[in-house]
Amino acid sequence: MYEASHKLFEQARTLIPGGVNSPVRACRNVDSIPLFIASAAGSKITSVDGRTLIDFVLSWGPMILGHAHPEVTRAICGAAAEGSSYGAPCEAEVELARLVTDALPSVEMVRMVNSGTEATMSALRLARGVTGRARVLKCIGCYHGHADPFLAAAGSGVATLSIPGTPGVPPATVADTLLAPYNDLAAVKTLFESHGQEVAAIIVEPVAGNMGLVPPQPGFLEGLRSLCDQYGSLLIFDEVITGFRVGYGGAQQRFNIAPDLTTLGKIIGGGLPVGAYGGKAAYMQRIAPEGDVYQAGTLSGNPLAMAAGIATLRVLQHSDYAALETRVAGFARELEQILAGKGVPVQVLSLASMFCVFFTRETIVDFASVKTADLALFTSFYKQMRDAGVYLAPAAFEAGMCSFAHSDDDFNHTLDAAKKVTF
Ligand SMILES: *Cc1c(COP(=O)(O)O)cnc(C)c1O
Repeated sequence: MYEASHKLFEQARTLIPGGVNSPVRACRNVDSIPLFIASAAGSKITSVDGRTLIDFVLSWGPMILGHAHPEVTRAICGAAAEGSSYGAPCEAEVELARLVTDALPSVEMVRMVNSGTEATMSALRLARGVTGRARVLKCIGCYHGHADPFLAAAGSGVATLSIPGTPGVPPATVADTLLAPYNDLAAVKTLFESHGQEVAAIIVEPVAGNMGLVPPQPGFLEGLRSLCDQYGSLLIFDEVITGFRVGYGGAQQRFNIAPDLTTLGKIIGGGLPVGAYGGKAAYMQRIAPEGDVYQAGTLSGNPLAMAAGIATLRVLQHSDYAALETRVAGFARELEQILAGKGVPVQVLSLASMFCVFFTRETIVDFASVKTADLALFTSFYKQMRDAGVYLAPAAFEAGMCSFAHSDDDFNHTLDAAKKVTF
């Protein structure tokens, strides 16, 4: 079924580590080979094998309007004709900055970078510069890109200082990273009682989207906000996924909490490589050349990327998030019923246009509960769905993404495919 992908993958593996430029794409966790994509349009992707599948990955989130949206394509092509990079300011940077600051009231000023990773590492540097403190607290199972300080694995207990989650990260680099379980405000409090005065920032995904999908429990984000206020630490919302996805104003609007700094990526680039970090002007003015905290980028504010982001946000301003949320919630409920009918332990969570299939009955609140999910069941589910034309994220701990281009037919086809799955 996937001859051409197989061939390309064999070549790729001799030239690119693992045959991919980002690890999860390799589909190893689900005992499969990656499909090489030839093209994509709307809710669907077409592989080099000539198979067209309903896409619930959406480039891991950016393509909320669907692939090759005409307005976005037009904007990119138009910008390309005017030159692809200047290394000097352009009008589109001002425009995207205005769209972002208008959308997110807590963001008074914003700096564009080229990826979510750059956004989070820069925001952390700024928080450290502003507070003169070194430590950062992150939640176990949250992902903030691949910069060293965030690659800390869970230690043995709540108050454990971190050990690096990968070779190549010196222990000293993550020694200042404190870890707490997601949704565990008591654990964060305990850490703050002993280290609060040393903590530059708490960084958190306001809806965790990198360990499947874990919504914040009532009071969790509020509690982080007040602890930061109490101890003079900055609260960083990593909205690289949630920004412009859980609502036009992101999670901060949805939960009505103002972080000090916000990191963005994915959707604001409309499918091109963009990240951004922003927040209170008083903090952002500490960034060079206005201030003394250095951060730079040769391609930052790239005119093509800005054009794609602007076009995407403009369409999103007139998109019905509530309607999409209702459709996705209904789809998730039906999917859960279908799978539960097969006698497997399963729950399908959804929030806004994201969903996640967990093969467990455990209540999902943090990484420990997420890890109770049965990976063999997921692998079997993934393979059968892909063979039936449904492209899910190739890992049990990734959220499914829906777009405004997903039709009722797409959801119904997916449910029909799920009905035929056997375990
Ligand atoms: C994807 C993601 C990142 C990293 O963004 P990249 O563009 O892959 O570097 C950071 N934080 C969150 C919450 C993400 O989902």
